[in-house]
Parts: sequence; C-alpha cells; structure tokens
Amino acid sequence: MMKVLMVAPEVAPFVKVGGLADVVGALPKALYKRGIDVRIVCPLYGSLTPGKDWVGGETPLEVHMGPGSIFARVWETSLPDEPVPVYFIEHKGFFDRHEVYAGPWGDHVDNGERFSFLSRAAIDLCSYLDWIPDVFHCHDWATGFVPVYLNTVMRGTPFEHSASIITIHNLKFQGLFRPELLNFAGLPWDVFKTDGLECMGNVSMLKGGIYHATKVTTVSPTYAEEIQGPELGEGLNHILKFRAADLVGILNGIDAEAWDPRKDAYLPAPISPDDLSGRALSKQAVQKEMGLAVNPDIPLFATVSRLYDQKGLDLLAGIVDGLMDNMVLQLAVLGSGDKEIEGMLAAAAERHPGRVAVHFGFNEGLAHRLYGGADVFLVPSRFEPCGLTQMYSMRYGAPPLVRSTGGLVDTVEQYEEGRHKGTGFRFEEASQNALYYTIGWAVSTYYDRPEEFQQLIMNGMKQDFSWKHSADAYIELYRWSMAARDWTRAMVST
Ligand code: ADP
Repeated sequence: MMKVLMVAPEVAPFVKVGGLADVVGALPKALYKRGIDVRIVCPLYGSLTPGKDWVGGETPLEVHMGPGSIFARVWETSLPDEPVPVYFIEHKGFFDRHEVYAGPWGDHVDNGERFSFLSRAAIDLCSYLDWIPDVFHCHDWATGFVPVYLNTVMRGTPFEHSASIITIHNLKFQGLFRPELLNFAGLPWDVFKTDGLECMGNVSMLKGGIYHATKVTTVSPTYAEEIQGPELGEGLNHILKFRAADLVGILNGIDAEAWDPRKDAYLPAPISPDDLSGRALSKQAVQKEMGLAVNPDIPLFATVSRLYDQKGLDLLAGIVDGLMDNMVLQLAVLGSGDKEIEGMLAAAAERHPGRVAVHFGFNEGLAHRLYGGADVFLVPSRFEPCGLTQMYSMRYGAPPLVRSTGGLVDTVEQYEEGRHKGTGFRFEEASQNALYYTIGWAVSTYYDRPEEFQQLIMNGMKQDFSWKHSADAYIELYRWSMAARDWTRAMVST
C-alpha cells in the first residue's frame, strides 16, 4: 500500500486561511478511497482545542533542530467523513497563537523557526510512528524545508528512499528569512547557494522546496505555464523553467460533500439543477442578512474573497459608483484583508445603501449563502493559481465572471451569445474598464436574454469539479516520483 504524508500549515475544516486548507482537507479523502495510506500533519494553533475523541501522545515527540532537540506533543484525530489520520503538533511557543501566518501587526517574526520546526517535526513524527512514507507531499513555502532535509541530513536514514512533492498554491508567498535560519533548522550551509536556497541574500523556503523536491506541482495547468514567465514568475521563473520537466499542473477539485447544494445546512433550502427555488430563498436571505433591498428581480453580484491586490477587488472598488449610476444591480462583498481595499469598499457601501453591502470577516455560512444566492459571482483576480470560489459558485448556480488567468481559464468556459455555450463571463485585461464592461455584459444578459442566462446556470451546475480526475493524476505523479527516487538511488550507489 502506497504511503503518503501530507505536510501542511492548514487543513480544513480544522484551520483555514485559504484554498490550501480546502485542498488538504479534501484530496486525502479521495486518495484514501483509492487505497492510499494517506495521513496529514499540521500544527496545533491556538484557535484549535483538542476534541474529546482526539488521542494525545503519551511520549513526547523529539524534533531534531540545529541547536538541539525540541519536544512537542502529538495529537491524533481524523478528517470528518473518512478515517484519514490527522496529526496535530502541539508546541506552545511556536504555535499557540490564533493566527496561522500573521497577526494584525504583520507576519509573525518567527515564521522561519515555526515552519522549519513543522517541516522537521513532520519527518521526526514518521520515526515516532515507525511509518516511513513513500512520498512526502508538501504544501507551499511553510513546508519547503521537508524536501531539503530529505536530500541532505536524512541521507543514510530510512527516509532516503522517500520521494517528495511540493505543491505551489501561491508563488507570491515564498518564506524569505535571514540565512542564519539554517543554523536553527539544522541544515548544512552548502545548500545556501543560487542553485539551492539562496534568494537575494536570504534563504527562501519555497525555492528550497522547488529545488529539492522530486516533483513540483501547482494547482492548475495554466498557472504551471504562467509561472515559468517573468510576469507571474515572482522572481522564481528561472528555477521553475529549470525544473519544467518535473513541474505539473493539476487542477484542484472541490470537496463534493462539504459543498453539496442539495444538502448544505447553511442554505435556507436545497438547490439542485432540477429545482432552483432554493436559489431565490438564498438570495432573499443574503439580501436581508447584508442589508440590501429585498428584491428578487435585481441581479445580485457577489464575491467571497481575501481582499488583496491579487484578487483585483481594488478594480471593483474603483468602479462601484459607475456601476450604480448606470446599471441596475446589487453588489455584495464578503471578505477581509487589505485595510485600504476594505476602506474603499466600506465607503462605497455607505454611498449606496441598500444596493452595495460589505461584510468584513470570515463567515462560512454567509459564504455558502452567497454562492447559492448570487446571480453572478465575481473573481476579477490579477493572478489566480486555481481558485475555488468560481467552482463553488458554478455548483451552486451562480455563473462566475472572471479574469482570464490561471485556474480561472481552466475552469470557466466563455459564454457565447446565441450558442448556448459557456459557463461564465471572462475578460482579459486587469483593468477597471474591462471589468466594468464585462459586468455590463452580464447585467444585460440577465435582463435581455433570460433563457440564455438560465442555460449558463445549468451548464455550470452540471460541471464535474470532483477530485476524481485530479486524485488519479496525483497518484500517477506519486508513482513517477517514487520511480525517480529509485533511479537516483541507483545512480548514487553505483
Ligand atoms: P485563496 O486560496 O487565494 O484565498 P481560493 O479561491 O482558492 O482563494 O479559496 C478561498 C476559500 O476561502 C474559499 O473556500 C472561500 O469560500 C473561502 N473564503 C475566503 N474569504 C472568506 C470569508 N471572508 N468568509 C468565508 N469564507 C471565505
């Protein structure tokens, strides 16, 4: 039986900052169903309290850091729905705080130490469990040292046969720290070079992961191409090009159980392609909840998003007045993030009461109702590695309006007027103008071509975004990486 350890800084439903958590909470369930012995390791943050059925390790876990051992406690539970083991690493100093990466004052200053510790703890956990994975599947910069450990200090141990995969969920976040971090991490200084971990004089945890992993993946085929170029390569395009033969884009799926509009407890009524009446009730609920005028006939445009530059919501904030002056629509935004973008949106909501509503903060229930109640779902991202929200919105019957970038290209098919084709509206240029006119296109489709609009809804709801295909693609990749690891082992030993 193939053994895979997911090393992750987030896992839904326990702790979630963004899409990474959804992936780590869902992909293992699909792998488990296909007979993989898959397990997950994640820190026990201050926001998490061990449940009654969690099992706390009797003996401490010894984590071998550079200056000496640091001890942690291991908690074991499992994912809801499938018996996939989840191990939480408890260490008060590193992890007992509410936020995963950053507080209101900015990034935690000891993120380098915290996540080197997670990376090393993941490997030491396997010795502790006496369970040697065939593959360590790592997620984003926070786990980037795992492949580096495997290629260096773990040589000559049972782990030297373990392959590693790093999945890039977002290349923008790279984990840059002072080089002295290597001393704490217990990594040899010979990895600190351009062909290795060095990045502008600092250590880059992500670059280390990309260099040292057996295979590199990202979360959509289009993003896998885009990051090899200077525009979206975030300074790492050269090394991604260097590793191009081992770089694969595998589209994220969605958790079909957690996101099933037929039995979603957050919705006022079920929604299915055969019965869309639940959508009207969701729309009404959202309008009430967010203080919008309750009116079934005005198209409701909505978004659920981290409010950052990446997501292009500053573009939206810049055109709200124009939209409200010239079109009849409502706008609802759920999200939090950049204070400037929040301020622009809050001011717009004040200028247009009953027509524009914003809700800052994380609200799972409202998010589900927005997917179920919006008429059009906005994702105007500047870049988007995969994006999950457009898939949720399609499944819940809200056609998405997206910029043509990354995973949005791979998941949203352009609407073609008069041909009953497409699942949403796409635009090319990341500009206010392009967004404005594409919203105009969607608004007029809503009013003037209701049958075609209905067809768009149906086309979206019938898409298959389950993990089926992607889980198979990962398993194939695990096999390749195991074979590659065997091959290099043969080379080294001759
Ligand atoms: P990213 O990972 O870049 O944030 P994704 O589209 O991949 O973007 O995933 C975003 C996930 O976070 C979705 O599940 C979305 O519903 C959720 N989400 C984002 N903001 C909020 C919020 N304010 N409240 C509830 N859920 C949110």
